[in-house]
Amino acid sequence: MIVAGAGLTDRGRLRPHNEDSLLVEAERGLFAVADGMGGHAAGEVASHLAIEAVRAALSGDPPAERDMPSRLRDAIEEANRRIAEQIEQQPECRGMGTTLVVAVSDGPRCWIAHIGDSRAYLVRGDRITQLTADHSFVNELVRLGMLSREQAARDPRRNVVTRALGSGAMVVPEIHEYRVEPGDLMLLCSDGLNTMLADERILAVVQESGRALEEVCAGLVAAANAAGGEDNISVVAIEWCGAGETADPSGPTGPTAAEEPLRGPDTEPTSEA
Ligand code: CA
Repeated sequence: MIVAGAGLTDRGRLRPHNEDSLLVEAERGLFAVADGMGGHAAGEVASHLAIEAVRAALSGDPPAERDMPSRLRDAIEEANRRIAEQIEQQPECRGMGTTLVVAVSDGPRCWIAHIGDSRAYLVRGDRITQLTADHSFVNELVRLGMLSREQAARDPRRNVVTRALGSGAMVVPEIHEYRVEPGDLMLLCSDGLNTMLADERILAVVQESGRALEEVCAGLVAAANAAGGEDNISVVAIEWCGAGETADPSGPTGPTAAEEPLRGPDTEPTSEA
């Protein structure tokens, strides 16, 4: 299977800086979004350090060669260490941190690792499924039955994350493996997307974009800005295509004419023992 990807990050309409960073290396099946936090541009530093640590640790060999969950864990520990070092060297960076969501695919499999409230969604057919559970204060309350999902989406504490890189302590990422199918589309995003757009709206924009990956990203960023653009907005769109399908991130994908089964009125199904 061929993996294609595109990404877009935007400052939004209210924030003075863009503190998000993203990674799109489709030929290696490696994608990530990091959402930095901390004043005086420190958030930008933290998210950039995390993305660079992931790139360095995971872009070496083809992903299938070693145990992927342990490689992901190592990459994330390295990112955490680099951010802690930076804070030690520049005390004005104290308090900086970042969320992180990483997707790595070897074709039929995709591993998702995340820390904090940056998300991964799967669009399969006409359904959208959130794959990651936010490590956030409001999501903890939802899990305990103390808030509904609707209340959580409006709660003023919705930006408070319970896990982040750079918080000083050891970080425990959540890592899951998924089987992917041709035609699956995955989104990685920072919370500036999903706090502005409900899941159904995200799905509608994907479908309106004709699934062309660059248009999916541009459409989602535009929709989040139209809904207020209260935070930085980052989206990575990933698609899996069968051999013979187009993997052009700028064009629509689908079976080519040559792949249509050749069946006419005089074609009889054959069976062999
Ligand atoms: Ca954010």
